[in-house]
Amino acid sequence: MTFPNPDTRCEDCGYVLQGLSAEGGCPECGLAIRASSPEHRTGPLWQERPGPRAGLDILVSLIRNPKPFFRTMRVDGSNVYPRLFLLLTAMGIGVGWYIGARWVYRPGPGPALIQTGIVVLSVVVLSYIEAVGVVYFSRRRGWRVTYRMAERIVCYCSIAWAPAAGVIGGALMLNADGGIDRAMKSLIGVWGAWQSIELMVLIGAVAMLWFEILVWIGVRQTRHANAHPRAPHKAVRVEKTSPGVET
Ligand SMILES: [Zn+2]
Repeated sequence: MTFPNPDTRCEDCGYVLQGLSAEGGCPECGLAIRASSPEHRTGPLWQERPGPRAGLDILVSLIRNPKPFFRTMRVDGSNVYPRLFLLLTAMGIGVGWYIGARWVYRPGPGPALIQTGIVVLSVVVLSYIEAVGVVYFSRRRGWRVTYRMAERIVCYCSIAWAPAAGVIGGALMLNADGGIDRAMKSLIGVWGAWQSIELMVLIGAVAMLWFEILVWIGVRQTRHANAHPRAPHKAVRVEKTSPGVET
């Protein structure tokens, strides 16, 4: 494999590295050219072998330091396993919601199940809306985040919906008997149904922050990503490279 090849960009700043020595640094930002080698993009383990350990690995990486997680994220291959991760995360959040609802708020099994269904669906739908937004943004900026990569990023980031669901669920359940509303009314004086809804929307937006931040870091670390070229001396579009995994 020739490196840098005509398709190689500096993964930090996007500078075209063609024709430069792999031993040098990026003329634009100084990052070692080797650091932009697609050979670093081998992760995460879940992409190859999904399982409890690989799942825990994603969780720990995203909590401790998401930057290297996305910097080493593969940009080729299929999205079947990332989608599985999203599905399992959404279902896990659903189970948590159901248990939380039944235990704290105590609706009947029917309403709790309906709520749970809405929550699971919301996790998936909101994640995909984010992916579409990321692709739109990336195209406008001339970045390399294709739909497939955006989908992969949001699938892994979906783990951040767990605390978001906890916060939103907690706020809703706390206010189930109007507790928050009464407290706010005694605090401010004027407090109507609209203010109550606005407060819940605000809490929801704050709860979503971790997801948004993770996705943003993911995009920043993949916007100039170099994929493994199929053959030496040949520029390959990122979205066309899919050796191996796709079956
Ligand atoms: Zn650079």
